[in-house]
Amino acid sequence: MLKPDRIVSTTCPYCGVGCNLELHVKDETIYRVTSPFNAVVNHGNLCVKGRFGYDFIYHPRRVTTPMIRKMPQAAGSRTQVFDLDAWRQVSWDEALDYTADRLVEIYRRDGPEAMAVYCCAKATNEDNYLLQKMFRALFRTNNVDHCTRLCHAGSVVALQQAVGSSAMSNTASEVIQSDVFIVTGSNTPENHPIIALQMKAAVMKHGAKLIVIDPRRSELCDFATLWLPIKPGTNVPVFSAMAHVILKENLVNWDFVEKRTENFEEFADAMEKFTPEFAEMVSGVDRKLIVQAARLYAKAERGAIYWGMGISQLSHGTASALAVIHLALLTGHIGRPGTGLNPLRGQNNVQGASDMGCMPYHYPGYMPVDNPENAAKWARRWNIEPGGLSLKRGLTTTEILSHAHPGGVRALYIMGENPMMSEPNLNLTRHHMEQLEFLVSQDLFINESGAFADVFLPSTSWAEKDGTFTNTDRRVQRVRRALAPRGEARPDWQIISDLAKRIEARLGRPNSAGWEYSHPSQILAEVSGVSTEYTGVTYERIEKTGLQTPVWDEAHPGTPYLFSESFPRGRGKFHPLEFVPSVELPDDEYPFILSTGRVLEHWHGGTMTRHSKLDELYPEARVDLHPTDAALIDIHDGQAVRVSSRRGQVVLRATVTEKTRAGVVFIPFHFAEAAANLLTIDALDPQAKIPEYKACAVKIEPVSEAELANPEAVVSRGRY
Ligand code: SF4
Repeated sequence: MLKPDRIVSTTCPYCGVGCNLELHVKDETIYRVTSPFNAVVNHGNLCVKGRFGYDFIYHPRRVTTPMIRKMPQAAGSRTQVFDLDAWRQVSWDEALDYTADRLVEIYRRDGPEAMAVYCCAKATNEDNYLLQKMFRALFRTNNVDHCTRLCHAGSVVALQQAVGSSAMSNTASEVIQSDVFIVTGSNTPENHPIIALQMKAAVMKHGAKLIVIDPRRSELCDFATLWLPIKPGTNVPVFSAMAHVILKENLVNWDFVEKRTENFEEFADAMEKFTPEFAEMVSGVDRKLIVQAARLYAKAERGAIYWGMGISQLSHGTASALAVIHLALLTGHIGRPGTGLNPLRGQNNVQGASDMGCMPYHYPGYMPVDNPENAAKWARRWNIEPGGLSLKRGLTTTEILSHAHPGGVRALYIMGENPMMSEPNLNLTRHHMEQLEFLVSQDLFINESGAFADVFLPSTSWAEKDGTFTNTDRRVQRVRRALAPRGEARPDWQIISDLAKRIEARLGRPNSAGWEYSHPSQILAEVSGVSTEYTGVTYERIEKTGLQTPVWDEAHPGTPYLFSESFPRGRGKFHPLEFVPSVELPDDEYPFILSTGRVLEHWHGGTMTRHSKLDELYPEARVDLHPTDAALIDIHDGQAVRVSSRRGQVVLRATVTEKTRAGVVFIPFHFAEAAANLLTIDALDPQAKIPEYKACAVKIEPVSEAELANPEAVVSRGRY
């Protein structure tokens, strides 16, 4: 057997579970990935992405030299170019000087509102902290966001309103201590596979009862006591009907409600109208199932709720998440092991990027930007004159591009994200991208968004740098360099600190905000010095197993579950709710509801997994369609079809399957050649600004094989 030169312990770069990986390196090549059985998060288990999805590091299309577009780009006529011949390879000095010159020119001319940045939920805490610092400290703007806006913004706003904290309240592996748990809006086996293993063990080995509430029949339904096949966009009536039953049948934990909550009376009045009959009428879920689910959860000793983006990615995502949260406040299923409110965070470091302040309303540590005391704390830390930081809340991810016009955003810096795959209504997004005056892409590949850029800054993969990720259950873990950077690629934090110094020199600021770091541990120490939830997190302390935030000081052991005594806002707050339907409902012309999401083998816009052998396991986009619907429109399994909405169309093959309920079709959003987001609607939740990815109206019609983008991906190939 091959003997490794070294085995490097690190954290998986894909999903928010945060599995521990051991990278086996021989001759500067990773040839095997394992995980130790005593790994605290994943106990030696890995899914196919963690085990095999590292080969994108070596992909021939990876770009490892800085580049500038040969043809100067202008607002209004910006073009998307993948061909490397359209780019000129340049030195780091030239690339960074050019970037600094253009950014400073636009900032001087148009001011802070013209500048915007997408941070990256795949990059480390240290990378993200520095990038938001660069834009806040140098360009004095809060136009700072990342893809948290696109996944759990509704959950974040709702949790902040209800309890004052937006992270998962409990450790994921505590599910085996629950006697009843609800999984809703989450295909956990495909999206958080190792947490799904723990959920299955909770049922099979520990006797827990599982309730699945979801339009799709995920594998978890095989383990569930109840499956409520809800129509997308009807979470508020279904969860509020469960609250209605809990109230009517006096299953309320009155002691908890009296001591720990507020606004109960107003809430209870608002729940009167949400009868199980009403919920059945709008959601299609049998009223008896709603009553059974309410009783089962309310009567549990330790009930927990886990949810995914089926709750949050709606134009009423905040209300939807509040309806879920109310159940825990009514029953007191929170603040103890095996209970809790658990939004399953998608990306490996979306929790960390949020903690690091990569959001337009918050500094690191969720300190609101419009509070002068918070601004003063960060101004002191960054050597900025009193009053120098902006108190104005910035634009969200979803707003930054729609503000790309004269008088709005002119310069955009994108680190590792791919809005040309992840934004809703991509035809409109394309138009917005074309309006930018200057675009920076810092990434591994020229993806669909980077192909619009003026300058490309090649960064390292997670295996070529040090740092930390914070996983879905708030565990800060080490990322370790296993390989030297490929070519001239540099870690993101080094690119940013080098660029920041050049920008600062051009701006002629009297004091430096501080960009001299020799190791990312110094960056984390800077965060910990102001952000109290990370105060006790040091590289030394997380050397072996990581620590769960909050970690209040260097003696604090971390916090496996939250809210044992109180909520950060004091009392948990009930909110009266109304049912507001999704913006675009099916009709005669567009009779199906489209829902989008991920599949096990792929990751988001595909920048990594579509440059990996994982692509061979799932090589093409498919639309999942229920057999009843397929029969109605005379479509057979594997047939080429066109799916159209009022915004765009894609051609792909159909999979006829009972994995989705009748009337609802599903398309994964990883495939540029049949990009699901050409179809989705750009309606936003008014509070969270999250798009309605989970519900828009589409029609389906058969087409010839010749119309497929990749007809050579034969029907029998891949897992569908
Ligand atoms: S479950 Fe998530 S963190 Fe674990 S190996 Fe798979 S992708 Fe990586």
